Order: sequence, then C-alpha cells, then structure tokens
Amino acid sequence: MPSKVPNSPLPSSEPRPATSPWTPDRYRQVDRETYWHPFTQMAEYEPFIIERAEGFYLIDIDGNRYLDAVSSLWCNVHGHRHPKLDQAIRDQLDRVAHSTQLGFSNTTTIQLAKKIVDLAPDGLEHVFFSDSGSTAVEVAMKMAFQYWQQRPEPQPQKTRFIAMGVAYHGDTIGNVSVGGVDLFHKIFKPLLFEAFRIPAPFAYRPPEGVASEDVLQHSLQTAEAILKEHHHEIAALVVEPLIQGAAGMIVHPEGFLKELRALTKKYNVLMICDEVFVGIGRMGTMFACEQEGVVPDLLCLAKGISAGYLPVAATLASTEIYNAFLGTFGELRTFYHGHTFGGNPLGAAVSLANLELIEETQLLESMPTKIERLQEHLAEIKELPHVGDVRQRGFAAGVELVQDKATKEPYPYEEKWGYQVCDEAIRRGVLLRPLGNVVVIVPPLALPLDEIDKIGQTLKAAIQAVTEGKGT
Ligand SMILES: *Cc1c(COP(=O)(O)O)cnc(C)c1O
Repeated sequence: MPSKVPNSPLPSSEPRPATSPWTPDRYRQVDRETYWHPFTQMAEYEPFIIERAEGFYLIDIDGNRYLDAVSSLWCNVHGHRHPKLDQAIRDQLDRVAHSTQLGFSNTTTIQLAKKIVDLAPDGLEHVFFSDSGSTAVEVAMKMAFQYWQQRPEPQPQKTRFIAMGVAYHGDTIGNVSVGGVDLFHKIFKPLLFEAFRIPAPFAYRPPEGVASEDVLQHSLQTAEAILKEHHHEIAALVVEPLIQGAAGMIVHPEGFLKELRALTKKYNVLMICDEVFVGIGRMGTMFACEQEGVVPDLLCLAKGISAGYLPVAATLASTEIYNAFLGTFGELRTFYHGHTFGGNPLGAAVSLANLELIEETQLLESMPTKIERLQEHLAEIKELPHVGDVRQRGFAAGVELVQDKATKEPYPYEEKWGYQVCDEAIRRGVLLRPLGNVVVIVPPLALPLDEIDKIGQTLKAAIQAVTEGKGT
C-alpha cells in the first residue's frame, strides 16, 4: 500500500521543491490507483497528465506540448490562460468567489444574465443558471413538464418527450431517457422513462430501407406521424440543432430544424434546443438555431459559455413559460430545482469576459475563413482509402474510419481504430479524442489558420500511418 501523500498545493508559479513527493512517476501511480476517470476504461487506462497550458497548447508532466484540437472536450474558445479571462476571475476573487443564488443575487451574475438575453434570439428573455450541459437540459425538460401542469389552460396529460434516435443530451437519468446512444445508455434502460424517437436524418448511414437522399423527408414524416397521434401527451421535443455531436458528428440536412419547429408549432409541443455543444459560436453564429431562423421555447447552453474555464450552464426560457411559474408563495408554482453552484460569480465573471472577448476580437466574423480551411483539409482526408465519410458543420467535424470504403463496413468497435489514430496524432503533437470509429475535430474557435493546417496535416498522416501502415 502506498502511504498517504499529504496534500501540498503550491502556487504554480513557484518551482516544485526538491522535497515534493509529487514526481511524474508518483502522479502516474496515484492517478492509476485512485482517480476514476469519466468515460474511461480504467483497466486499460494509461495516465496522460496535463500540468499546464500555453495558449492553444497543453503541456504534460514530462514537458511535452500538444495542440488542443478538441478544445478540452469541445468547450475552449480563446485558448488557455487568456489574459483577459484569467484577469476576470482574479478580479472576481477580490469580490467574492461564491454566494448562493437561491433567493439571493450577485452583481456579476446579473450582468451575465443581461448579456445572454441581449445576445439571444428575441423571445428568450429569462435565464436559469446551472453548472453543466446535463443540468441545463434536465432543467429545460422539467420546466417544459411543469409548464403544461400550470399554464393558464393546463394540459397536465402532456408529460412525455420526443427526441432524436441517436441523441446525446447529457448523463443524468432524465438526459439519458431522451438520449439514444445505445453504447452509453442501453444498460440504464430499466431506470429510464420512455421517449418517442425521430430517426436521425443521417445520409451516410440512413435507416434501413431509406435512400440517402430521402433521409430528411423520412425523419420529418416520422416526426409528424408521431406528433399527429401523440401530441396531446407530448410536452416537448428535444433536439441538438444542425449537428448531433456526441452521436458521431451527424450533420442534419439544411431545413431540418426549421421544419421541426413548424411541426412543434402545428401540434402545440414545446421545442427545447440543446445548444450545449453548438451554441456560442461553434456553428459560426452565436446560436445555431439562428441559422434556420428558429427561436425555440427553451435553449440550453454550457460548454463554450465560460470559454471552457469553469462549469457554467444556462437554460433560456420564453416569457410564456416563465409566466406559468409565477404566483404567490403558497400557490406552489415555484420551480423547485436548483444546483448549489448555479450562477456562481466566478463562473459568471469569466463567462461575461468570454462573451465580451468574442465581440472585441470579432471572433464570429473570423469563423467563415477558418471553417473553410478546415473543410479543405477534410476534402483531402476524405480521399484516404479507410475514410468512409467526413462530416463538418461550422467549426466541428467528424472523420469516420471504415474497414471497407465501398461497402461502408465499419471497423470492429473493440479494435479501437479511432483511438489508434488519435494516439498516433498525439505522438505527433496534436491532442485528439475519438467517438468510436469517428475521429472528432473541435478546435478552439480562436485557433489561427496555421494551427488548423497542423491539425489537418497531422490527422491525415496519423490515419495513413495507422490504417495503411505508413511510417512517419
Ligand atoms: C456535452 C453535451 C451535454 C452534456 O454536457 P455536460 O456539461 O458534459 O454535462 C449535453 N448536450 C450536448 C449536446 C452535449 O454535447
């Protein structure tokens, strides 16, 4: 048994004293023995330990540098240790780190609420803060449910949800109930409530019996058939606009979101847009739903809202929904839901600084050029013999590796081809993490063009090295 190591936090600017028990090997050992990592098979886990970062690069305990090509799980915006963002947190620390928002408020969080509502599509005028994408969606679902119970003309039988076939909306039981990624969700089935399902309009792997060019019509027809029959029992439709990230970067055909919105209006069902991944510039616009002129009833934000600094999430609601919760204390119309750290001032400070920095640096205006550059690299990668499909929307992409390009035969899951390619890219200095056989590219929004080139070139070489056995 290793003896317990005393916790000795040191300011990172001070060099590690020679007497520190925290050598790289000690980190690796304790990491392996003690620290249970998310979405990680610990029996096969090889410690990969980041100590610090500079801009778009993460630096491990041995001093190796890696370009952060997945934005530290899709949330980094301006790079790491941005002076303005760091300073915003320091300044807030000099005021207060945390004070509860349950019945109390805070100056910084109020400013953030105002900023978000000013930026949001017209009609979303109220913000509820929580601390992760999962909670942002859970909150939206509970709001939608409670809304029907207590709106002016209540429809208490509207208790169910309709969602995409392979959806990912987070990891709580509510999220997983509307989720549909079998790999993650199947085992929990006995715990879940049942949702109605719309097959994803996925052209590369269409539903059985449906041609690639018909996926949009097929999805919409299925959605309409369900809504027509069951709208009286459905509270809300939950959807990730434009691209389903964790499902494997499934890009929806143009017009899908807009048509879904028309259906929810026709059948009197609320629409929840989960913009946890696609919001805050990831699709090239501040909000993804803007691109199809859609304003949902509820909109969820997390990941990029704090520039990837702190756990911050927001659920935006329409005034109609908000009003259904108003009443006297004794009427019990309150939204009885809240997370201890929701609206946390430190998180609010960095989120506010992030949104200001996006404007100051004209980040959204710079996105089309970057999106196009990524597209150029993907076009080359698509030609490789074991790349079946490349899918990009905005500044996010997936490269699907296949055993047989002609038949689209996938590589066996357990052979971990996605991981093999990412490991090879990591050896070449670009940090990537796959979703099964799909290599995912989600760079920080502020990444300059030459670094996009580095990602494209490195990924291409890594795929060739792994799938065609070509050396370095
Ligand atoms: C990441 C993600 C979530 C969950 O967010 P967490 O912060 O990891 O809980 C929910 N929805 C979508 C679309 C996501 O990409």
